[in-house]
Amino acid sequence: MGYLEVGGSNPSLAIFNMAKNISKVMDILGEHFDYEERTTLNRMRKKPDAFKILISCLLSLRARDENTEKVSKALFAVADSPEKIVSLKIEELEKIIFSSGHYHKKARILQHVSQVLIDDFDSKVPDAKDDLLSIKGIGPKTANIVLAFAFGKEVLPIDTHCHRIPNRLGWVKTKTPEKTEKELEKILPKKYWRGFNGIFVLFGREICQPVSPWCSKCPVRELCRRVGVGRFR
Ligand code: SF4
Repeated sequence: MGYLEVGGSNPSLAIFNMAKNISKVMDILGEHFDYEERTTLNRMRKKPDAFKILISCLLSLRARDENTEKVSKALFAVADSPEKIVSLKIEELEKIIFSSGHYHKKARILQHVSQVLIDDFDSKVPDAKDDLLSIKGIGPKTANIVLAFAFGKEVLPIDTHCHRIPNRLGWVKTKTPEKTEKELEKILPKKYWRGFNGIFVLFGREICQPVSPWCSKCPVRELCRRVGVGRFR
């Protein structure tokens, strides 16, 4: 961590002090986004139920947050335990989760994961990363979400926004979310870990969007190196 020369396209950043930049950006974004209330997972954190958090996370893959919340509620009204999920007919499950997209694949993943929980984990969601990753259908992002949101562990769940934006800001130079996680573990002060996912998910959805980010209305535009940003608004 230290002073770097500018490699991005923001001329106002002649010299880049990484540690200061990270703290400033996190403080500004933390003020700007009401992440505790606005993301489904953060709301679920208040009354954590590891099984529901795991299932909601699996449903959220390539789906909109509002939709995930609606579909999760509909599903939990009918089946809120691994036993109940495996006892549903696959067509019935597909029908309930249809609007979350990729329902065919997701229904099978939900039943497989539920069956493994019953067979190998006494119907409980494990709180160790290796155990979670041993279940087919659970990847690193889902595992970290469960660890952070259900068990309050200090981990960084990295989705597409949490990977893209630190690269644009110039904090990391990584090709995959897994590498971003490793790099952020080294440079992001622990006090920001809890809010990181919720803040960056909202930031990525509303301002620092994938194709053409809204740099003109970005609260941290003076602090961003805009690495790799071509088109912006
Ligand atoms: S919106 Fe623009 S200025 Fe803001 S973080 Fe993204 S790339 Fe940087």
